[in-house]
Amino acid sequence: MNPIPQSPHVLKTGLLDRTQSICPVCKKTVDADLVLVDGRVLMTKRCEQHGRFESLVSSDAQMYQRSLAHDQPGKKPRQFATQAAKGCPDDCGICPNHQQHTCVALLEVSDNCNLSCPSCYAGSGSRPARYLDLKTANFMLDRYLDYEGRPEVLQISGGEPTLHPELFSLIKLAHAKRIRHLMLNTNGVRMVEDREFVKELADANIEVYFQFDGFEPQIYQKLRGGAAVLKLKLQALDALAKYHIPTTLVTTLARGVNEDQIGRIISFGVENRFVRGITFQPIIFVQDGLVFDPLDRLTLPDVVKAIDAQTQGLFRVSDFVPMPCPHPTCCSLTYAFIKGGRVTPVTRKVDVEKYLDYFCNRIIASPAGLLRKALEGLWSASATFNSTDVLKDFACVCGIPFSPHILQELKDNVIRIMVKPFMDAYTFDFKRAKKCCIHVLQTDGRLIPFCVYNNILRPRAHA
Ligand code: SF4
Ligand code: SF4
Ligand code: SF4
Repeated sequence: MNPIPQSPHVLKTGLLDRTQSICPVCKKTVDADLVLVDGRVLMTKRCEQHGRFESLVSSDAQMYQRSLAHDQPGKKPRQFATQAAKGCPDDCGICPNHQQHTCVALLEVSDNCNLSCPSCYAGSGSRPARYLDLKTANFMLDRYLDYEGRPEVLQISGGEPTLHPELFSLIKLAHAKRIRHLMLNTNGVRMVEDREFVKELADANIEVYFQFDGFEPQIYQKLRGGAAVLKLKLQALDALAKYHIPTTLVTTLARGVNEDQIGRIISFGVENRFVRGITFQPIIFVQDGLVFDPLDRLTLPDVVKAIDAQTQGLFRVSDFVPMPCPHPTCCSLTYAFIKGGRVTPVTRKVDVEKYLDYFCNRIIASPAGLLRKALEGLWSASATFNSTDVLKDFACVCGIPFSPHILQELKDNVIRIMVKPFMDAYTFDFKRAKKCCIHVLQTDGRLIPFCVYNNILRPRAHA
């Protein structure tokens, strides 16, 4: 494993930061401390009614502190949706106190689902189905345009969005709004049951964000409500491969369940060029009744180190650089170019860490400024490999002269590996939430930061 160099600025012990969080029981806002204990970062907090809570935020305090240098100043949206009056989360949003515009908006088109995952943050599949109507979707998308001008990314989500009877009309509607990139978050079941659906999807100019947790049936028993789900997943992957539908594999990782699958999933992605990216998401605990130990959970450094170990250094710890547009502890990622079976992470060509260091780096002049701008384009939540701009950024970073011919070659031969630790009530940090760039569209036209919505504001009543 490639060791991370020591930084003279990192603290070894004591109080790292003060923030605000929520009580895991009543969800009321409480003060919280981030403290360094035995090389880890813990969050400690006390609720007057429900007592003291201590939870693991990062298993590697040094990596956590170094990531803080990648905190890029945020950008404002063209318009705010609400006033700043009562504070977080009552003013959501996006209110003028929020520190970042929307890179990715989610449009939840149904709360119906054909699976029943115990850890579903949307609590889907457990109530009479509801579907977003086109008129309301049109209003919500128009509001997204008001905030962002020409928005970057829309994820059509749920529940399971492929169950929506007018899914393709919704996709057409979003394309008509000239949103740059569309994604469909799906568990893939519909692709197995309905081959005509897959053909239509292949022509819909949309990237599939495909939930895939590994290659062993017992994983699906634990995470997705049944071992038989594996067979469906493998059939859905065959369908995506057959039509060469651009796909990001999205893996929920749970300690002791599927962390050993990381290397195998990356090998699959590298070998199958319809896979444009892999996103590893350590599991979050947002559903009542899930039993777990908040001090023994997978955190971002655990996943990055497992990637290094399980790919035998094909991807190293040092290849992963925090994404600077949200709070820099929210996501780390890397890109690699694949040619003739050879995998070259971008970070072996360019010192990405140096260019995206906002503490020390004052680069503004060309050509270093151009390179930094290109890297900011790639290290952004809105970067996707269906976008010509992103491909241009990639070519710039790698020193490849850009041409129409190189466009397709890059599209088919680049992979992005990302680690995204969402927050639950145990790790919830309002400093991260206030810089969130992934927002959930509401039927009244507001946008709510994803982790705020799932932990605090999502209606949980089974209507
Ligand atoms: S999370 Fe952001 S949008 Fe919501 S109230 Fe706080 S600052 Fe405003
Ligand atoms: S497939 Fe997705 S929406 Fe459906 S229950 Fe599982 S996590 Fe929830
Ligand atoms: S969704 Fe949560 S983890 Fe992701 S950027 Fe927003 S606050 Fe951070």
